[in-house]
Amino acid sequence: MKIVVLKFGGTSVGSIDRIKNVAKIVISYLKKRYKVVVVSSAMSGETNRLVKLTKKISKNFPPSEYDTVLATGEQVACSLIAGRLNEQGHLARSWQSWQIPIFTIGNYSHSRIVKINKKNILNFLRKGGIPVVTGFQGINFENRITTTGRGGSDASAIMFAKFLKAEKCIIYTDVDGIYTTDPRIVPKAKKIQKISYEEMLEMASLGAKVMQPHSIQDARLNRIDIEVKSTFKNLKGSLITKKRNISNKNIIRGVSFTKNDAKITLIGVKDRPGVAAKIFEPLFRNSINVDMVVQNISSSKKETDLTFTIQSDDLSKTEKLLKKNKKVQFNNIIIDKKVSKVSIVGVGMITTPGVTFRMFNALAKKNINILVISTSEIKISVLVDRKNLKKAVDVLHKEFKLDY
Ligand code: ASP
Ligand code: MG
Repeated sequence: MKIVVLKFGGTSVGSIDRIKNVAKIVISYLKKRYKVVVVSSAMSGETNRLVKLTKKISKNFPPSEYDTVLATGEQVACSLIAGRLNEQGHLARSWQSWQIPIFTIGNYSHSRIVKINKKNILNFLRKGGIPVVTGFQGINFENRITTTGRGGSDASAIMFAKFLKAEKCIIYTDVDGIYTTDPRIVPKAKKIQKISYEEMLEMASLGAKVMQPHSIQDARLNRIDIEVKSTFKNLKGSLITKKRNISNKNIIRGVSFTKNDAKITLIGVKDRPGVAAKIFEPLFRNSINVDMVVQNISSSKKETDLTFTIQSDDLSKTEKLLKKNKKVQFNNIIIDKKVSKVSIVGVGMITTPGVTFRMFNALAKKNINILVISTSEIKISVLVDRKNLKKAVDVLHKEFKLDY
């Protein structure tokens, strides 16, 4: 059986006309002799609406009931799609997670799919039917409904592709692929034909809006190729796949960036074992995400300067926490409210010398000062003044031959 899993996001099923369009896309695959499994998200805005309802009932809404409420959006979208396919003369039916079942483990609202009972789905496919399955939801081993985190229907589609050994998993969405950088910043950005799972995960600022990061990790672990395509335009999309499937013509796959970071430097921190942990513990307890961290040894070797970045939204809270932290002493605190992180990402840099030099040199030529540097195996990030963001992204995009 040649199976394709088609996943439709919220905007793709956001209205009756759009649902009719989804049915058209599904039917086009039947014509290509595929057996089609549809995984759908809720109609756009619906899950947010449901979240608000629970908040009106209680601030401490029980987690199991919260997931049960949130899971209802997908039921509606799937039944409407199945209804339309029937109307067009096809055998189709909806399936909710508990009817299959799709088993999950872990906490409510963040469950992970571990097993899918595929027997009935396969039988239906063999009969020529089109199963339309709710994304985002599962059940746990206590037989309660669970959900897999916002955006979780991507992961549902990937797990269906794995358990059904599908030939393809296609994510239909409102963008037409993954771009080398944000086209609103660099009009010369181009659509990436193939990108590795690792690169996609590192390009969070470009990728996360397109797909839930967890789901990319699931695809990577299970070696599932994912095609990302537009529901509204019939264009070739981008393929997320194994490194091995990609020719390494480009050293750098893309340039990603953050817009709203802030930088904090603590001057003259008493340098003792455990001091960094003491600084960051209260931030961690308050769910403040620390990104880049640099520590300098001062010449006296008794004091150190420590610089780190956080999201701008967390700045005032972080400042308060640092100032009231009795366990840490420092002489001064310097805050830079307007910084951005610019990163180049590409598996090609592992085997290519000189990438770091080229990046720094290109920035230097444009007179862009680098505030902080951090690296991973396939990513180099620099922190710059926000006013230099566009210039930095532009010059790096050009330097690494990503312009079209
Ligand atoms: N409907 C869910 C959400 O809005 C799941 C998804 O869209 O993938 O998060
Ligand atoms: Mg989504």
